[in-house]
Amino acid sequence: MQEALLYKKLPDQLVRCRLCAHCCTIADGHRGLCQVRENRGGTLYTLVYGRTISQAADPIEKKPLYHFHPGSRSFSISTPGCNFRCAWCQNWEISQMPREQHMVGGHPVRPEQIVATAQRNGCRSIAYTYTEPTIFFEYARDTAILAREAGLANVFVSNGYMTDEALDMARNWLDAANVDLKAFREETYRRHIGAHLQPVLDSLKAMKALGIWIEITTLIVPGLNDDPQELKELAEFVCRELGADTPWHISRFFPCYQMAHTPPTPVATLHRAAEIGRAAGLRHIYLGNVDEETNTFCPKCNELLIRRIGFNVVENHIAADSSCPTCSETLAGVDMAGSER
Ligand code: SF4
Ligand code: SF4
Repeated sequence: MQEALLYKKLPDQLVRCRLCAHCCTIADGHRGLCQVRENRGGTLYTLVYGRTISQAADPIEKKPLYHFHPGSRSFSISTPGCNFRCAWCQNWEISQMPREQHMVGGHPVRPEQIVATAQRNGCRSIAYTYTEPTIFFEYARDTAILAREAGLANVFVSNGYMTDEALDMARNWLDAANVDLKAFREETYRRHIGAHLQPVLDSLKAMKALGIWIEITTLIVPGLNDDPQELKELAEFVCRELGADTPWHISRFFPCYQMAHTPPTPVATLHRAAEIGRAAGLRHIYLGNVDEETNTFCPKCNELLIRRIGFNVVENHIAADSSCPTCSETLAGVDMAGSER
């Protein structure tokens, strides 16, 4: 059993976890909201260290990260558990496993095994994903440090609920993150997610300040976060606080979990959201979960630079210095030519 990082011991064998913005105070014998951190006799332990529940060598575009080593593969891992309870979670069987099935599944895989498997599969990075990497932070950290030593990058696919302390600890090994900005209303975060909006906004700004490459994903759920005014405010926040070059992935909802009876998002709603994003000043907007090309264009001369089919890059015309070969505009991102595999 691995002792947790980032917690404080309090009187009466209480502990306060400082890993995510829930900042749970946990009594002896109890667990935090995520159900994977447990107080035993005044010491906080992580229950998911080394417990991989899913792993795969995915295209980096599947995370989705479109401006980070495009065309490369990312070895993706997760453990059970999450600090959120999104009513539409597509991975609810593993994210809510400790809460709903009262068990922590997975099988033992050591950090060095993950790195070795990533290298064997020709991956350029390791992605901590599928559930929420914050709640398996210790496991991710140990793996990420080894990955860096092996020349691999590290990416989080996250709900963005880390504390400043957690981000400060990650700054030396976390290269990029796709962060869900799930809504721009506190009410939605509180009622449908079991969290708050402001800490997500704060951690996005902190990640930006730390130099971590960020892409944003918003799953548009009909009747929940598809109000044009809300989307306008969200897009303006991204543009103002994170920069106009921050890619915004607008994703289509399909019925699942507690929202099995909500219809899929009309594709027209996604196109309208994209228009709103462009009007707010965002220069890279992509639609997700739709059967459409998701290409990258030069934001200055509109030249087609990366053509994708599904998650696969089929053409990349970006120059080795990440510039547009037609007008020399520099494309925001990391290794946009995709030359470092
Ligand atoms: S990671 Fe978050 S939810 Fe889990 S115990 Fe710590 S503060 Fe609570
Ligand atoms: S944050 Fe992600 S993994 Fe966690 S419940 Fe929400 S959708 Fe599922």
